[in-house]
Amino acid sequence: MTKGSAATDHSVEQARSILRRHGLRCTAPRLAVTSVLFAVPEAGHLNAQEIVALLEERGDPVDLTTVYRTLATLVDVGALHALTVHERTTYGLTANAHHHAVCTSCGEVIEVPAEQLSQALAHASDGSRFALSATAGLTLHGLCPRCQLQASG
Ligand SMILES: [Zn+2]
Ligand SMILES: [Zn+2]
Repeated sequence: MTKGSAATDHSVEQARSILRRHGLRCTAPRLAVTSVLFAVPEAGHLNAQEIVALLEERGDPVDLTTVYRTLATLVDVGALHALTVHERTTYGLTANAHHHAVCTSCGEVIEVPAEQLSQALAHASDGSRFALSATAGLTLHGLCPRCQLQASG
């Protein structure tokens, strides 16, 4: 993602609409933090340090304390959710229903779109007599692409 690209502008637009939907004022740090999550969909969840680094890279620096405070606000209103695995807390957008795949080696969290697991959930419900919802928040465990390379390599 380069500065000022169409993708970046689009992510700011998406961030703005998320903040509005959750009744938040569009302050600069809120827009910055939310748009960074929209700008890197392939990364899924990010932790606070990663968000700080990405914002700095983008030429839009926000200090770590502000990022933490902003994340807390966004989680409070339900725009983001936090997931803690291996003592590493990462944050993801709640806009698209998803489950999580967690790397057992490095703790990387990847989002799995809920529709990809809807069949599995239906089967699991049948087998267990549990009423599992599409947004039940499944956590899958495995190795991320980077750790698979290291394991084979
Ligand atoms: Zn998530
Ligand atoms: Zn990994």
